[in-house]
Formats: sequence, C-alpha cells, structure tokens
Amino acid sequence: MRYDYLIVGAGLYGAVFAYEARKRGKTCLVVEKRGHIAGNIYCEDISGIHVHKYGAHIFHTSDKKVWDYVNQFAEFNNYINSPVAKYKDELYNLPFNMNTFSKMWGISTPQEAKDIIASQIADLHITEPQNLEEQALSLVGRDVYEKLIKGYTEKQWGRDCKDLPSFIIKRLPLRFIYDNNYFNDRYQGIPIGGYTAIAEKLLEGVEVRLGVDYLRHRDELDPLADRIVYTGMIDEFYDYKLGVLEYRSVRFETEELEMENYQGNAVVNYTDREIPYTRIIEHKHFEFGKQPTTVISREYSSEWKKGDEPYYPVNNDKNNALYERYRELSRQENNVIFGGRLGEYKYYDMDKVISAALTRCAEEMD
Ligand code: UDP
Repeated sequence: MRYDYLIVGAGLYGAVFAYEARKRGKTCLVVEKRGHIAGNIYCEDISGIHVHKYGAHIFHTSDKKVWDYVNQFAEFNNYINSPVAKYKDELYNLPFNMNTFSKMWGISTPQEAKDIIASQIADLHITEPQNLEEQALSLVGRDVYEKLIKGYTEKQWGRDCKDLPSFIIKRLPLRFIYDNNYFNDRYQGIPIGGYTAIAEKLLEGVEVRLGVDYLRHRDELDPLADRIVYTGMIDEFYDYKLGVLEYRSVRFETEELEMENYQGNAVVNYTDREIPYTRIIEHKHFEFGKQPTTVISREYSSEWKKGDEPYYPVNNDKNNALYERYRELSRQENNVIFGGRLGEYKYYDMDKVISAALTRCAEEMD
C-alpha cells in the first residue's frame, strides 16, 4: 500500500497534519519513535491525575482561529496560569507585576515601582538590549533580575544571561497592575480529559505505527509514500553533517505523595542558583483536582547530548546560523516537509505549532 503522506512523529504538528490530510481525502501513515502518541503534550494517568510527562503544558492563544480549532477536539477548563517564584525563603508572584514589586520593595503604586526600576538601571544606559541580561535589567531593574531571573535562567539554559537572546525573557508579561496571569493571551485553559485525548481525536482513523524509528528504517519507509512530513530534529535528519544544533534537555523526578495538597499551586519556580531543579509542578492543580493524593515533578534542566530527549532549541546566533544552513539543505528536498519544534528548530508554543501546521497544510493541499 502506498500513502499520500508518511508523517514522522505523532506530536501536535504531525497529528494536526494527519487530521487535515485525512479531511482532504489523503491517506497517511504516521510513524512514531516512542511507544505513545501526542509527543510532548502526552499525559500519563497516575491515581486519576493527568501527569504532564514531558513538562507542564498550558494552552494559551490570542488566535481565535486556533482556539476554535482546538475546541473541536476538547473542551477547556478555566485554569489561569499564575506561577509562584521562590527565592531562598522569599515568595513572589509571577509574572512580574505589582504583586511582585510590592513584595520586593514594600511599595504599592505603579509610579513607585517604575521609579525604583529606573533608579536601578540609570547608570547602565541600555538603549537597545543586546542579550537576555540587558533586556531583563532594562525591563525590571536589578533586584528582580538578581532574585527572580538570573539564577533560574542560568539553570534552565546552562548559559550566562549575557549569552542568551533577549526574546526568551520577552515571553513573560511585565505589568504595572496587580495581575498574576502568566499570559497576555485572550484564551487559556487545560483540556478537560487531558492533552492525549486531543491527539487521539486528531489521529482517529489514521494508521499509526508506534515504536518505529524513522531514521533507522528510512529505506523501507520512504518508498511507502509520495511525500514525507518530518517533525524530528532537522540536524539528525541530515546525520549532523553540517554540525550539531544545541538543545536543552529536561529530566523529571516524579513522585506521588500521600497528601492532598503539596504546594498549593500548579507551578512553583525555584529561582536561586543553589536549588538544582528549576521548578516543581503539582499536576492536579491544572485541573482543580480533588484526589486524595498528589503527584509532583521536580524539573531538572541539562545540556542535550545525542541519545537524550531534545526539549528546548537554544536559539542563539550561532545555532540559528547553523539552522539556516540546514534549512537551505531542506529547501532542496522535493518531497519532505519539515515541521514543528524540532523540524524547524523553534521555541514554539502549542498554538503556534497548530497554526504553522494548518498553514502548511493549506499551502500543500488547497
Ligand atoms: N524566567 C525567569 N524566571 C522565572 C520564570 C522564567 O527568569 O521564574 C525566564 C527564563 O529565562 C525562562 C524564560 O523566562 O527560560 C521563559 O519562561 P517560560 O515560563 O516562558 O518558559 P517555559 O515554560 O517555556 O519553560
């Protein structure tokens, strides 16, 4: 049997692509290296709690088209992400807002907060921030940078804040109002029934082969389809022939605790350098769970090496330049589409992955 598309990877990009292709009457074969679908949005059920096995995922978007699209496959709850940051024995609200500033400096008005920030960076004369450190300092001043950003970022990325791109910190809202919502987006929530069910619905009626490593079986798989949608690492696709792109990997220490509520919040960030993990996730709180036990995951970040799970692309100038060279190579492929976080080497949020897949499908098939 020949298929119209061979889709490599059953994560969000691959699953949306498969759904859209099937909707247009195309046939697809999806191959997935892991023993389950849904990629990094996969959740595992532990004592009735959806455990975000590959890290916390909170769906948020301002794109009504994407919001309406995912709502076809799940109903979303009203969870609003409001992480708390722990620096030594001090506790702060995130993202950076009047609650954070009030706690940090004992002040109460926006003008007081702005004056303190301005006074802390006056001597730096930053006009155009060149890196994450300059960007953070110019936005929130020295105290917030030192206590809530520097340690966390250096643990998360394994690099000095001066060697990281400024866009990473611009993911976080900065507000001079009392509002702990981590996102500025119009729509937000966690799918009722979990993320895996979304992937199941997207892949309904599509042939999926689990535990199949495409790159090891290329010779047998390639002839099965006219076109290939590849969502794995673009550098690995080319056997790293131009060099190895850098990624951060994440390791989770997950345990079930015989108590109802461990930390009182889904996400607590540990922002000092001394604590080895970056954050603790208490999964039940994403869904207002009332189970008698709780499951927590401590998240440790490390430099990716061959054989590890790649999580975050390190989008600094060096890696972006290397990616561009792989991208050039990929443009010469006649029948391979590269998509998703690993295929495009991009720090993608879920809504952007869906949007990119939909756009690509329309270009490809309409
Ligand atoms: N960040 C920080 N302190 C925090 C939370 C985030 O300095 O308490 C910085 C850090 O550099 C991180 C970036 O903001 O990599 C983006 O954070 P986000 O929560 O968006 O990261 P993700 O959830 O994707 O890991």
